[in-house]
Amino acid sequence: QLDWNGKKVTVAGLGVSGIPAARVLHARGALVTVVNDGDDERSRAQAAELEAEGITVRLGDGATLPTGTELIVTAPGWKPDKPLFAAAAEAGVEIWGDVELAWRLRGPDAAPWLAVTGTNGKTTTVRMLASILEAAGLRTAAVGNIGVSLLDAVLGEETYDVLAVELSSYQLHWAPSVRAHSAAVLNLAPDHLDWHGTMEAYAADKGRIYEGNQVACVYNVADEVTEDLVREADVEEGCRAIGFTLGTPGPSQLGVVEGILVDRAFVANRQKNAQELAEVADVQPPAPHNIANALAAAALARAFGVEAKAVRDGLKAFRPDPHRIELVEEVQGVAYVDDSKATNTHAAEASLAAYDPIVWIAGGLAKGATFDELVQRSAKRLRGAVLIGADRALIREALARHAPEVPVVDLDRTDTGAMSEAVREAARLAAPGDTVLLAPACASMDMFTNYNKRGEAFADAVRALAATGDA
Ligand code: ADP
Repeated sequence: QLDWNGKKVTVAGLGVSGIPAARVLHARGALVTVVNDGDDERSRAQAAELEAEGITVRLGDGATLPTGTELIVTAPGWKPDKPLFAAAAEAGVEIWGDVELAWRLRGPDAAPWLAVTGTNGKTTTVRMLASILEAAGLRTAAVGNIGVSLLDAVLGEETYDVLAVELSSYQLHWAPSVRAHSAAVLNLAPDHLDWHGTMEAYAADKGRIYEGNQVACVYNVADEVTEDLVREADVEEGCRAIGFTLGTPGPSQLGVVEGILVDRAFVANRQKNAQELAEVADVQPPAPHNIANALAAAALARAFGVEAKAVRDGLKAFRPDPHRIELVEEVQGVAYVDDSKATNTHAAEASLAAYDPIVWIAGGLAKGATFDELVQRSAKRLRGAVLIGADRALIREALARHAPEVPVVDLDRTDTGAMSEAVREAARLAAPGDTVLLAPACASMDMFTNYNKRGEAFADAVRALAATGDA
């Protein structure tokens, strides 16, 4: 147990992780100063609340290290190249994220962690995993980057047998000593490179999730980097590498044989033979990338000793969160599918692979991405494309280069109402049997508050189209 009494801790960032971290540390006797870049109305109100509790808050100055700081607890999103961290390095001050803090306070004693990271599919996989663990009768929760803070989970009243933990690359960066029971990296594609600097640095942060694993490191056979990360990780003796594949599984792998998810993996109870886990049709939606998510969830659950039957029951009970390949409605024989959560090209590619022919609605903030590969790989399935948002020219140019025959409607607008027009234009391009797919491959913040709002605008427009024949 750490002695927090009188320890000078600087919490970087007022926010969903900073405020609870400050309170938890203050309650343990630490001398807490919260530093925050912003100084707006909201942060002033939050600061006033914390100060009334005896916590010091410095607004509008997130760069200066408070004198005497012995430890920094940072919000995960703070970039490593911030001046505050340079000052900390110079002064030899350790930096923890909120996940590290949760781990140090009570991580290993609260419950074993089954952890998931990856560029895409984290939330889906963690929810599938929690559903399987529940089906096995275990007390569990889906926590972490999914929106339930780990601090709350490990320090709260509730007791758990096991936690299904989603970790982002940022959280992993700031979590040097977290040790999972078992962990999975689902896939790795360029994303957030503005934060991590390079693809290597991004991969290394994701790979941290395997460090110290006790039972299994789960990797994606189709994504070699994930296996490399397992190889490089320092794990506990006896910890096994378990692959998942959409093909026939080799030894120590889970895979798919004739529409059945099967398991040839080592599991904690040492069953070694192929086991039928579930059918492809049990998984919602049964798109290939989502079967991969189901296999990863199954691998982690099996590593924890869960029986095959609970895998099937849990997967059957699972329903995807909104805006993740969600069928909104069929209108005049055309399916309208909302994958607003496809905020990068890797995610969009996965959903474009699941339909044919497609009228594709795309565009938004590109975050430095290029679209050539995505367009090349998806061109054959495109009936047409409707482009919206700030960076739509990048997609238009990629389409012109690799799919000049595909008709493109370029909507020169970034207002919220543009979505209705996009749906109308898509309806015009589509023929019965087609899918109109919102898979923007971009972030939403140029037009909407977030991807939820973007998906809702799409769904509203589709419902209007169904009701009146006009979006
Ligand atoms: P995350 O939590 O990693 O953002 P989600 O489960 O919320 O992942 O899914 C995000 C988006 O990524 C969805 O739009 C979905 O279409 C896509 N996606 C989900 N799983 C995968 C996968 N295994 N590979 C590629 N794309 C995926």
